Amino acid sequence: MMKISKSERLFERSKQRVPGGVHSPVRAFRGVGGVPRFMQTAKGVEIQDVDGNQYIDYCMSWGPLIFGHQDPEILEAVQGALTRGWSYGTAEPYSLELAELITDSLPWVQKVRFVNSGTEAVMAALRLARAATGRNKILKFDGCYHGHVDSMLVRAGSGLADMASPDSAGVSATVASDTVVVPLNDLDSLKSAFEIHGKDIAAVIVEPVPANNGLLLQTHDFLIELSKIAKAHGSLLIFDEVITGFRVAFGGMAERTGIRPDLVTFGKIIGGGFPVGAYGGRADLMDWIAPNGPVYQAGTLSANPVAMTAGIATLKKLKRENPYSLLEKNTEELCASMETLSRDFNVPARVQRFASLFWVVFDEAPGAKGWVRTPGETPSVHKAKYTEIFHSLLESGIYLAPSAFEVSFLSTAHQAGHQEKFLEALQRAYQEVKNGR
Ligand SMILES: *Cc1c(COP(=O)(O)O)cnc(C)c1O
Repeated sequence: MMKISKSERLFERSKQRVPGGVHSPVRAFRGVGGVPRFMQTAKGVEIQDVDGNQYIDYCMSWGPLIFGHQDPEILEAVQGALTRGWSYGTAEPYSLELAELITDSLPWVQKVRFVNSGTEAVMAALRLARAATGRNKILKFDGCYHGHVDSMLVRAGSGLADMASPDSAGVSATVASDTVVVPLNDLDSLKSAFEIHGKDIAAVIVEPVPANNGLLLQTHDFLIELSKIAKAHGSLLIFDEVITGFRVAFGGMAERTGIRPDLVTFGKIIGGGFPVGAYGGRADLMDWIAPNGPVYQAGTLSANPVAMTAGIATLKKLKRENPYSLLEKNTEELCASMETLSRDFNVPARVQRFASLFWVVFDEAPGAKGWVRTPGETPSVHKAKYTEIFHSLLESGIYLAPSAFEVSFLSTAHQAGHQEKFLEALQRAYQEVKNGR
């Protein structure tokens, strides 16, 4: 067994001072049980805990680190930024460079505003949509997560899936009543929701690749129809690309699907691992934002120059290296090997993947057909199976997300040798499951 006494002690102390001992719920390991590892350093794909244990990281800070930890190019840019000053609270040129980098490449983002998190980006985009349409309701999908915005904490993501609670306490019924929740992958329900509420729906918000409650891939047709229905009813389409933006392609899912959302939200990769979010879209909509228009939105540390510099370095490197097809190929190969192992060891599983995202779904029996596309289709054995495999992998030095409902991320730092270690560890895990350990 790995020695984790320092993590254990820190966790005990942390629980005295911090709710649940953590600053974001899934970090507490409640979904898988056990003691969360307190990490102290990370480089490339390796992350090290306070007891000195090393892990190959497939969680990657939940997505931002597409080049791995401490990418040298981003590090150098950030070090340079620190010598110039780390917050001005004024107009500055760094956010302009990042804004131009985005708007020059993504024609559907004519103007962009930077904030400090994905949650803030969603919150502002919804406020803007309500103002610009004069309507109050927002349509979201069961199983899509859009940050901890009050009105979006209805049938959301993994942090809530693990707590088996479809909602959050403290969200008023009035606020929740302005959210219309519709199942994913179900055009009939979507159409009837629009028949009933169409005139009141300011916007439809969707994760075009839902990746916060497992990886609930939607069909291209569903996304196309969704965009048409929204348009026909005068509702805005918001793509929440906080995970998919700059991840599945430089232009995210809007690029991959050819769908042009009215508004789009970003986070994660856009800050290169620093706290950044952004929302953008049609200029006529973005001009509703203060100081041009009546929709208020502000931030003391918004467009922080250090975070902007990390974002610029990340996006420039993505443009230059265009790593997307390589990342996808590596993910495909890893997933194919995982599927082979699950067949060889008779551990029924489907490995769902898209670009450099993947999610293993454990099944009751072999031969499950198709992909899980809604939270309800996730087999009931999945959570318990994932938990067993997760702990076995952790012991072998493989760090997956500590939740059965979170996806894994490949970065450009993940090399063939890391994948080999992962597969060896998975083989051990499957062997243990088979032996009923
Ligand atoms: C992570 C995420 C958010 C929230 O972003 P934070 O930076 O955690 O506030 C919103 N939407 C999606 C799709 C996300 O993946």
